[in-house]
Amino acid sequence: MTRYIFVSGGVMSGIGKGVSTASISAILASAGFRVTCVKIDPYLNVDAGTMNPVEHGEVFVTEDGLECDQDIGNYERFLDQNMYRQNYMTSGQVYQSVINRERELKYDGKCVELIPHIPEEITRRLELAAQKTKADFVLVEIGGTIGEYQNLLFLEAARMMHLSSPGKVLFVMVSYLPVPEMLGEMKTKPTQHAVRTLNTSGIQPDIIIARSTVALDKPRKQKIAIFCNMREENVISAPDVKSIYEVPINFEKGNLSDRIFEKFGMAKRKCDLKNWEILNRKIRRAKKEIRIGIVGKYFATGKFTLSDAYISVIEAVKHAAWHHGLKPHITWIDPEIYEKSSLKLRELEGFAGVIVPGGFGERGITGKIKAIGYLRKKKIPFLGLCYGMQMAVIEFARNVAGLRKASSTEIDAATPHPVISTMAEQEKNLAEGKYGGSMRLGSYPCEIKPRTISYRAYGEKNIVERHRHRYEFNNDYRETFEKLGLKAVGLNPQRNLVEIVELSGHPFFVGVQFHPELKSRPMRPHPLFREFLRSAKARLQRSS
Ligand code: GLN
Repeated sequence: MTRYIFVSGGVMSGIGKGVSTASISAILASAGFRVTCVKIDPYLNVDAGTMNPVEHGEVFVTEDGLECDQDIGNYERFLDQNMYRQNYMTSGQVYQSVINRERELKYDGKCVELIPHIPEEITRRLELAAQKTKADFVLVEIGGTIGEYQNLLFLEAARMMHLSSPGKVLFVMVSYLPVPEMLGEMKTKPTQHAVRTLNTSGIQPDIIIARSTVALDKPRKQKIAIFCNMREENVISAPDVKSIYEVPINFEKGNLSDRIFEKFGMAKRKCDLKNWEILNRKIRRAKKEIRIGIVGKYFATGKFTLSDAYISVIEAVKHAAWHHGLKPHITWIDPEIYEKSSLKLRELEGFAGVIVPGGFGERGITGKIKAIGYLRKKKIPFLGLCYGMQMAVIEFARNVAGLRKASSTEIDAATPHPVISTMAEQEKNLAEGKYGGSMRLGSYPCEIKPRTISYRAYGEKNIVERHRHRYEFNNDYRETFEKLGLKAVGLNPQRNLVEIVELSGHPFFVGVQFHPELKSRPMRPHPLFREFLRSAKARLQRSS
């Protein structure tokens, strides 16, 4: 029997609904249950692949090649389990299926309506996710905030599921309690309103996770209990924490799993969070700082700086730093500052290592190329991810191989030296305007050459990594570049595509066409990030 826990958000977004969902799933998994998660995004995009990362945050990619919301990354990291297509749903997907089914005459001549057909399709997808993993629990995170028009039909599906099997469905609301500075007091009213709004959808939350800067006190707990129509013990305090990986432990301090088992009428089970405690001890003990720079253009939005677009890269750096007993200090670097002034490049000396992550389009590339050239010459550890690898190839072509006009056809279709270019099938996609879900996506094998940094990192020849790109290293230039020191050390065995490049005579200059950051887990840092941090640590030790 599968039980469903719906997690919705009250008051505002960005308060940790994804981490809460992931943490609940980790707690239940630690009690020996099979758990899976589904993220629901209410927008009409079929997947997250066509959205700008500044607007939507990182596009995560699953093993089976789905471009999805970054929360799927949280689930993978917390559960240490891969997620697949069935773990992600958008309104776009749901509507598309219903409309396709209507076109195939599969509704027996009935009038196809928003209700019940859309909620029915939502339920069908949730049940499919449960079946595929034979899950005891499915955590369903409903994107957006209570009161938004867009997620109403998902709430309706949840209500209908609860109506047909009340013992199998539970509702958790993650809400925010502000502590306005001028009042100096935590306010519960926005949460009360959020619960009322949820009530209008026919849903009463069973559990409230009360997010705030500080812990919930007794009077506030009582107030929420009375006004939100629930018992006090079902209001779980969730204050800000230094690391998101403390959240499962914090939830258990509030006896969250007991509350869940009780609500479902199940016998209590012991949750074993030993691994989480070990991880958190490691995080707390990492005192020596290591400075890592990330050169990316998706940080700035108006007057604010967001790190959402590179969340997996940031997490991967943290996992690897903790592994080495170091405290990561990550700095966002806007490549455009190097375009204005080359003198600024000197600041790169202050980093133990620098990452140039994935990206698209022309803005910022000159700055990235300048930065990579500097890291190459100064022998500062460099890790290039996807676009970062492509930029490293262009830099090498221009400044070492003397091909001054070398470029990627993504940026300059008429370049005389297309050192990065498309595969034939991608040209067809582009010509036909087929942009959605058509990149080289998901897992592909790669064979690594022996006696290389990458081989040392992975400790094996055959690896599998996740991809998301349309352009590739152009094999016409391979021989020339290899002679000059930029070696193709990882190749896709079926198509001979270059997946990893390394520069000889540099302590760590590695560019990968894939996204290793997507597979890093807090308790199992990714080998390449681990090696990158090892090299960065060596530089740190040399300079101190
Ligand atoms: N824009 C590049 C491509 O499409 C790189 C993509 C990426 O960094 N994810 O090939």
